Amino acid sequence: MTVGAAGAAAAPDSTARVVVEPAFEAPVQTDVLIVGAGACGLTAALLLADLGVDAVVLERDAQPSGSTSLSSGFIPAAGTRVQQALGIDDSPERFAEDIQGKAHGTAAPALVAAYTQAIAPALDHLESRHGLRWEVLTGFLYPGHSRHRMHTLSARTGVALEQALEAALAAAGVPVLTEAQATELVVDGEQRVLGVRARRPDGSTEGVGCRALLLACNGYGGAPALVRRFIPEMAEATFGGHTGNDGTALHWGEALGARLADMRAYQGHGSWAVPHGVLMTWALMVEGGVQINREGRRFHDESQGYSEAALHVVAQPGGIAWAVFDTPVHALAQGFPDFVEAEAAGAVRRADSVAALAQVIGCDADVLAATLDAWTPGEPDAFGRRLPRRLAAPFFAVKVTGALFHTQGGLDIDARTRVLDAGGAPLPNLWAAGGAARGVSGNHVSGYLSGNGLLSAVAGGYIAAHDMAAFLRTSTPA
Ligand SMILES: Cc1cc2nc3c(=O)[nH]c(=O)nc-3n(C[C@H](O)[C@H](O)[C@H](O)COP(=O)(O)OP(=O)(O)OC[C@H]3O[C@@H](n4cnc5c(N)ncnc54)[C@H](O)[C@@H]3O)c2cc1C
Repeated sequence: MTVGAAGAAAAPDSTARVVVEPAFEAPVQTDVLIVGAGACGLTAALLLADLGVDAVVLERDAQPSGSTSLSSGFIPAAGTRVQQALGIDDSPERFAEDIQGKAHGTAAPALVAAYTQAIAPALDHLESRHGLRWEVLTGFLYPGHSRHRMHTLSARTGVALEQALEAALAAAGVPVLTEAQATELVVDGEQRVLGVRARRPDGSTEGVGCRALLLACNGYGGAPALVRRFIPEMAEATFGGHTGNDGTALHWGEALGARLADMRAYQGHGSWAVPHGVLMTWALMVEGGVQINREGRRFHDESQGYSEAALHVVAQPGGIAWAVFDTPVHALAQGFPDFVEAEAAGAVRRADSVAALAQVIGCDADVLAATLDAWTPGEPDAFGRRLPRRLAAPFFAVKVTGALFHTQGGLDIDARTRVLDAGGAPLPNLWAAGGAARGVSGNHVSGYLSGNGLLSAVAGGYIAAHDMAAFLRTSTPA
């Protein structure tokens, strides 16, 4: 759908629309406008401030949180100072190989190269200039990562990451306009963005004019009609992300004639505890846990990754499974604040025998005993997985379902994060990154390598800021 001469193109089932208004005049004018105050928007805003560029951030919530706050806050990066200090032999090229390995070579090559090269300088910069102190998780490897490269703040939560970025932005004095839901994208008829109108809680609208716009408002996981359209297999699944993932960027992009890419890709998760509605770290599986359905049977190779596990779990009777593990895994899980909280809330059940575990699961004890007896440590099992050992009592079990966390398809962008039109040419002054743009997971749920979400958000925000600053140096103000 292209914006026509009539002047307006409204997307069905959304308040987001594009209006052609060449004489747009806004009470507030800035060089760069950023829609969305998650990891992507906040990283970009910080970098722009460091580069001396005026920027304003629009955020629909009263208190910015986004999917970033819901995440575990783990960001993969190769070659940071902290990783080097630990003596970990890693490189952007090796990281890129791991991303392509998970996506079977289908992830956009230019973006993979750009993000894997940018993420270490981005994290180093956030540390040296804004005081975010990174640690590298060395306890275990997520499926598909060949090196320890997950970076986290000491609190190990997405909330801590979001709050640290927000605090840095406040210290840098960049304005974040909260309770401002961007609804109208204003353009000049030649696809040049002039600004945005945002809806305020009292129903009024406020216009902000800009010379360059960054869409950092994530994807469409919280928009059921779009989920049905692009990833129908997850239409009935629980959405574990932020409600602000309502497809604003997608609606605007489509209305402008932008190209979409990798629309079938997303981050699923096969370990969403029910009814508690919290994430159970996949480390439980990586370290030797298994998933068992309510009939007492395993059903897949858990070492393949949590994203595709979502599909396996929702295909089980009742759409549920039990994550089952033993004492060594339970001990390791104590290092994950999310797990500790979930355990305190009663999500983790303990069983001192196979019979007691069968009671918890509600399955036949003989079937369960056969399941737990069905593999030889170190040998490929019926699903091709090599489990390190047999599970021994006491057992621990968590009831889980498969959830949609965020979409990985979106607006097609080049390696500088500029939004591309249908012919592959960049639109005049529109950038997108993080969940608003296509990611680096190919075009299927199984292509998601752990950390691709925050990688795209932080590296994408960092690249976009540099590119917009360069654009502003050479473009003439209207
Ligand atoms: C439970 C869970 C765990 C996860 N764990 C990890 C992990 O450990 N590592 C990892 O890499 N990824 C993880 N992810 C994915 C990761 O959270 C996202 O990929 C990442 O946070 C995206 O950042 P973002 O800045 O693009 O979007 P967000 O953080 O969602 O920020 C977008 C912001 O835009 C705002 N917004 C949206 N529309 C508008 C509008 N129209 N006007 C104004 N504001 C608007 C929203 O309110 C929001 O604040 C996880 C996701 C979930 C749900």
